[in-house]
Amino acid sequence: MNIINPVVQEYVNKYYRPQNDALNALREECEGKRIPIILKSTETMLSVILKTRSPKRILEIGTAVGYSTIFFANICGQCKITTIERNEESYEEALKNISAFGLEKRVNCLCGDAMEIITTLVQRMKEQNLEPFDFIFIDASKSQYKDFWENTMKLTHDGGLIVCDNVLLKGSTASSQYDVTGRHKTNIKRMREFIEYIKTQECAETYLLSEGDGLTVSIKRNLT
Ligand code: SAM
Repeated sequence: MNIINPVVQEYVNKYYRPQNDALNALREECEGKRIPIILKSTETMLSVILKTRSPKRILEIGTAVGYSTIFFANICGQCKITTIERNEESYEEALKNISAFGLEKRVNCLCGDAMEIITTLVQRMKEQNLEPFDFIFIDASKSQYKDFWENTMKLTHDGGLIVCDNVLLKGSTASSQYDVTGRHKTNIKRMREFIEYIKTQECAETYLLSEGDGLTVSIKRNLT
């Protein structure tokens, strides 16, 4: 079941503006192969956030084949990006795409489990040889969002942003009636717990948006 009115969606998508032809071609290729990349409306929302914020350092959890990574690099012309992908095939494909866009020097693509890599990054930050990230994008295993969010919060500064994608799980976070097959009960339960959790966290001000497949935007607070 599609919870988004398809007529409205089609109308909005008509006004979607790709960054450039090459990125649009990569989107079409990914969509053709059913690789789950950010939706057009999510990309539009992120464009507004990124253009007004101009982050210098970005961390992404869930690279897939690098579509969103390349989009970030394009829209924030000076930024450096660290992106994490655990699937080796996707990682190799991402390296190829990043290189085809000439972005090897600005993108550090890491292959491995995000929680393990985040733990290493937190350690490096404690040892003070890693600068904090200005913008963190979480778009990986939905059942791990709480752990990703809690730990990447340590990797940003006051005022830094953490955006999580797909938090509405095609509407089923709001109502289980949208989980027609009943196969996503665990993910739904975990996502609801995650949203309840971040809404009560003092360390950030969090907004829940229905754009795309649902996004949370958390702004880290100064607690001192
Ligand atoms: N951000 C990408 C884009 O829009 O182009 C799409 C990412 S896709 C939705 C999610 C990716 O996260 C998958 O390729 C999956 O292999 C990866 N992933 C899931 N859990 C992960 C984990 N714990 N550590 C690293 N990567 C993970």
